[in-house]
Amino acid sequence: MDFNKIIEYQKKDEELIRIERDLNNNINKKVFNEMIAVVKKAQEKSSNLESKAQALINEYNSLKKIYEDNLAQIQKFISKNLESLSDKDLESILKASNILTNNLNILEKKLFNEAENFNITLNEFEQAKKQYGFAKIKYNDNKQKYEQFLKEKSPIIQDIKNQLKNLERGIDSKLINKYKQLRSDKLFPVFVGLNEKSCGGCMMELSSAEIEKVKSNGYIECDNCHRIIINN
Ligand SMILES: [Zn+2]
Repeated sequence: MDFNKIIEYQKKDEELIRIERDLNNNINKKVFNEMIAVVKKAQEKSSNLESKAQALINEYNSLKKIYEDNLAQIQKFISKNLESLSDKDLESILKASNILTNNLNILEKKLFNEAENFNITLNEFEQAKKQYGFAKIKYNDNKQKYEQFLKEKSPIIQDIKNQLKNLERGIDSKLINKYKQLRSDKLFPVFVGLNEKSCGGCMMELSSAEIEKVKSNGYIECDNCHRIIINN
């Protein structure tokens, strides 16, 4: 069996594998994919912060309402003509007034906390926005670079593919199918020589019967790595 053509095919295919590997491992591609995740995270964060801010505003407004109601009540007490009141009434008004003053103090503290929380949320929101903007720039820049790289490689890829197609015509269909199957299993090189007494792919030592078979048959499939070992 003549393996020259399939070996030539494999050699040409190696050029394609190299380019495909370069494209897959391209740093710009890696970065822009990472930036997609960053942008998505920043968007989620912004959306969460928006809901949080809305909740804080609602809470602030309801506290403000309670505060104002309490204040109005105190003012109502103050505006009463104290001289016309009995001691008992005065005492109960004072008691109620103390409770209200106490409530107002608590509310004031709560309002202050709400305002603080709101500022923190606002800062986080600004940070998320900045991060989003930064990631977007980085994404665009790296995507553009990757696309430029791809554009440069595309005609080369096409040329290799055309050459492979031409080479394929002269190869036994059984061999080429086996090659394609193993190549799609990420096994490369598919066809290897005999390395003294071992498989030229995985280096597993062959039995003398197997070596004999390679020599008489022209090839065998390696038991270990499933590559095709040919007699070279
Ligand atoms: Zn092997």
